[in-house]
Parts: sequence; structure tokens; C-alpha cells
Amino acid sequence: MPPSMLSNAHEKARDTILAYMPRDAEVTRIEFEGPTLAIYVRNADIILDQSFIVTDIVNALHKRVVIRSDPSIRMDEANAERVIKNLIPQEAGVTGLLFDRNLGEVAVEARKPGLAIGREGVILQEILRRTRWRPRVVRAPLIPSKIISTTRHVLHSEGDERGRILRDVGERIFRPTLKGSDYVNLTLLGGAKEVGRSALLVETKESMVLIDCGVNPSSNDPSQAYPRLDDPKFDVERLDAVVISHPHIDHCAMTPFLYKYGYDGPVYCSEPTAYLMTLLQLDYLDVASREGVYPPYDQRDVKNAVLHTMPLKYGVVTDIAPDIKLTLHNAGHILGSSIVHLHIGEGFHNIVYTGDFKFGETMLLEPASTVFPRVETLIMESTYGGAEDVMPERGEVEGRFTSMVKDTVEDGGKVLIPVPAVGRAQEIMLVLDRYIREGVIPEVPIFIEGMISEATAIHTAYPEYLAREVRNQILKRDVNPFESEYFTIVSHPSEREEIVQGGPSIILATSGMLEGGPVIDYFRYLAPEERNSIIFVSYQIEGTLGSRVKNGLKEVSLTGQGGRMEIIRVNARVHMVEGFSGHSDRRQLLRFVRKMTPKPQRVLVIHGERRKCEDLAEAIRSGLKIEASAPELAETIRLR
Ligand code: ZN
Repeated sequence: MPPSMLSNAHEKARDTILAYMPRDAEVTRIEFEGPTLAIYVRNADIILDQSFIVTDIVNALHKRVVIRSDPSIRMDEANAERVIKNLIPQEAGVTGLLFDRNLGEVAVEARKPGLAIGREGVILQEILRRTRWRPRVVRAPLIPSKIISTTRHVLHSEGDERGRILRDVGERIFRPTLKGSDYVNLTLLGGAKEVGRSALLVETKESMVLIDCGVNPSSNDPSQAYPRLDDPKFDVERLDAVVISHPHIDHCAMTPFLYKYGYDGPVYCSEPTAYLMTLLQLDYLDVASREGVYPPYDQRDVKNAVLHTMPLKYGVVTDIAPDIKLTLHNAGHILGSSIVHLHIGEGFHNIVYTGDFKFGETMLLEPASTVFPRVETLIMESTYGGAEDVMPERGEVEGRFTSMVKDTVEDGGKVLIPVPAVGRAQEIMLVLDRYIREGVIPEVPIFIEGMISEATAIHTAYPEYLAREVRNQILKRDVNPFESEYFTIVSHPSEREEIVQGGPSIILATSGMLEGGPVIDYFRYLAPEERNSIIFVSYQIEGTLGSRVKNGLKEVSLTGQGGRMEIIRVNARVHMVEGFSGHSDRRQLLRFVRKMTPKPQRVLVIHGERRKCEDLAEAIRSGLKIEASAPELAETIRLR
């Protein structure tokens, strides 16, 4: 084995591995692949029957271990492809194979993963035995998705660069610890007493992790729009990992910027987040360029971020720094949204960062998890943390919403629903589909613009992250509720004209806060007419056009074609329906803290307007008798 493959600190790991490996295994390389140790061997029998060896090594080293085939014993790709396609039954609906030469893995994309895997994995075993490529089955989306195919291509086929990144990340995670853990510093680089630009710096003597790295979409002034990456406590050279709770731009849009400025480390997030994040970052660049705003990074930086992405499943404990372990839990906010749990030091301190979360029933997702192995400090959002932020019960919300839609279409009007592409769009799709099916809302076409369709496709590729009922429809009954006959996908802007001239309809378009996107075009045509309705279903950040229209603005100036200013009269009915929010209301926020197991010793309230952060912290102190405060921007909180 070339000595350069392993630093001195890893000689112990190598010796342990070699001690457990059978003599005839013919080990050719031992490498880190991110948080996993990979052992490459030339003896094919070892690859096939490795479980007892792996168990022994895992027990000895406390690291994840995988045994892979040396390139010299793998079948050539063309033949391997033939063998794989013969072994997997036609009904599995294989849509593509991606060979990763670096890892010796083949990603099999199939419409029915269960059939491709076979009973107890028998087909996968046979593929490995015959080709010596390790197969991994991923679900094909039920709706075609460009973002899934390009992202999967980058993750699975750009072997050399991805391989280098995985090795570097692994070397860094398992570097020897020198100083031990006796404190944790938390610094808010954004999202303190504000909604937007979420970024929390977690620093120990050993390591540095950034949780979320978003923008504030209501501002174009860099000192307000971006997180304070110029803070002296932040050091991109020292940064071990970035963790993204969910892909809304106020939590993830600045991640590619870090790569532009020299970051070469990993981004950890849930599987769906990896795809949705790319979709929303590219859209962020698109919106910026259409508005003539100079974006802080470009598409190359987005691709670089994808190459560094480490998708994780909920509940899997992963080493991300010598003294930090990460676990993601369901946050119930949007598909794949995560509550971030950090275990620091050997039991020194445990942090739970909620990101945006919903502790309540929705059609799309299960409520946020409340059970953690340990927690001392809870950092929670407070978007609806004010005493007045009590949302009506879900049934009442649906009733109000459906009657608004019904009244408008029966009057011959159109309903415009500005929605964020991810989350609210799919929830509203499920609600509309159900109530039209039940005859509550008259049968009218529902138009959906391109990006919502992309985001919806990603939902169909990860049904295991959805609420039980939708998940069962897709997995067990083979019904895709997102492909209902009432939905029409608008694939080109030229189709908008016909829609706004046509009969009663419902239009779902981005962006959710009227800050750019196709919704602006619909707004221009639909707002002046009294019989139409504009229904907001998601949070409107102060200062956005959406928030001003919601608050009764009657005249809106928009830049029209050729850069001319246009004045748009808002005569349509404007409604806000709060209860569909992907956020918890005041009662749900407090109930979440009360239900949390174990009970946190301290709560930091963030991600809310100033008064709401302070108000919720006060309610937690007085009502739940837990130490709670609302930190300021750039303030550092030292945890024992
Ligand atoms: Zn969010």
C-alpha cells in the first residue's frame, strides 16, 4: 500500500484492519470515503461474504466500514450493464445505470426499487457476485426531473474529483484530536431576531461547523442580505463541515459562495435536500440575473457544492469532525427538512437546532420529531412565536380556503396562489386534488409552472420522507397523487397568455412572496380584476412585495417589458390563509418544547422578528421554567 494513502495517525486503523482481514484477501488500498473507511481487495470471495469481517472491524475501530473490489477484478462496464439488465426483472422499470469507477459502485435507478433489489437483496448479491460492482438502487421519480438526473450524474459519475473530495473529507474527520472538548461557542452569523440569512457557527477547540448558510430575500444590500461571513470568529480555512437543515433559500442559498471563497469541505443534508437545494440555488441565480442584481456566485460554484454534498438518511449517526457527530431528524416543514442534532465531545454537550419545523398535522408530512438521545441546548425558530400567532385548527383552515376558491371560480374568476416551489406547493396540490375529487370545489383546471413540477418530481423519488397516507399511495397502491388529472403543467411562458384569457382556473406559481418568478406575470394580469382572488398560503417576510400586497397595498409598480415602469391596480380580493404554513404556530412551538425528550436545559430562540423571538423566550422561561433567551446578531454564546 502506498504510504501516502494514509497519514501516520491512521496507521493504527490500517494495522487493525489488516489484522482482521483474512491473509488471502489481497488488500490493495485502504481509504477514507467521507465518514466511511473503504477497504479495496482483489479476492472476490471476501467482497461477497464480508459481514463478519466488517462487524469485527467496526467493533474495533468504531467507524463505518465498506469492502470494495479492486478495479482489476471488476467486469468491464458494457458487459456489466448487460448482466445487470438481465438479472433485474423488466417490471422493476430500470431507467438508468451510473457506474462510479472510483468506488466500484453502480447506481441502478428503477421505478420499483423493491423489485430491483429482490427478496432479501438476492438480486443485488448476484450482481455483485457476477460483476464485482457494488449495486445501489435509487428510486426513479414518477415525473421526469432534470435536476435529479443531472445531480445524480454529478454524484455518481464524476468519480475522480468526487473520490478526491471523499478522501480529503475522511482524512479531516479522523484527524487525531489534540485539545479535547471543554467548551462550545455558538455565534449567530444571521437569523438572529430576524427571518432570513440563517447561519449558525458552532465552534469547539477542535473544530468548526456551520449550520445553514442562507440569504435574506427581502434585501439587496449585502450587509443585510448575506450572513456575516466577515465576522472574525468565522474562518473558512478552519471550517470542517456545513450542515443544511432544508433547502429554502433563507437557509441554503449562500452555500455555493463558500466554495468560491476557498471552502473545499462537505455539505451534509438529507437526501431530498441535496436535490432541492440545487434546484433552488439555480433558481436564486436566475431570479437575480432577471432582476439585474449581481449574484454573489455562479453556476460553477453550485456544481462544486453538489460535488461536495453528502446526502444522509434520517436517524443515521455520522462523524463530521473529530469531536462532532451529526444526526438528522424529521422537521415536518418541507420534504427532507431536518432537525439537526450535534453530539459534541464524548458526551460533553448535545445541541438540537430545529431549522424551520412544523409540529402539527399536514397532508404532506409527519409532524416534527421530539425524541433525541440527549440534549442540553435547544436552538429553535420562532417565525410564528408571537402571542398573537395562533393559527386556526386545520379543518377550519381547509374550510376557509376551499370556500374562497369555490366563490371565486363560481363568480367566473381566477385564483392566483403564490407559492414557494417546495413544500406549500405540494401541500396545496394535495388539498385541491382532494376537495375537487370530493366535489367541494368545482372542477376547474389547476395550472402549475415548471419549477413546481420539478420540485414535485423530487417528492415522488423520496416517498419514504412523506406522510404515511401519501407514502402508502405511492408505494403500495401505485397511485401518484401529484399526477392527478386536474393538474396541467405550464412548460413555457408563452402559455400564460392563454391561461389568463381563459375561463375560471386555479394557478400555482412561484415565488411565494411575489419576489420575482412567473407569479409576477400572472399578478400583472389578474390583480386588476375584481372577480379574481390572490390567496397567500405561506409566510411573507416583511418588506417583500407579497407582504405589502397582503397588508392592503392598492397600487404596485412593476418593471414591464423593455424596462418600462407599469402601475398595477390591485382590485382582486386578497386573502391570507395562515394555517397551511409549514411553520409551527405559537401553541405548537411551546408544545414542541414541552414534549421534547429529554427536556433541554437551555433554549435559544432565533429565526423570528425581534419582538417574537423575545416574546417566545419569555413564554418558555415563565411557562416552562427553562432558561431561554433570544441572542443578537454576531453575539457568541459559550456553552459550558
Ligand atoms: Zn423554510
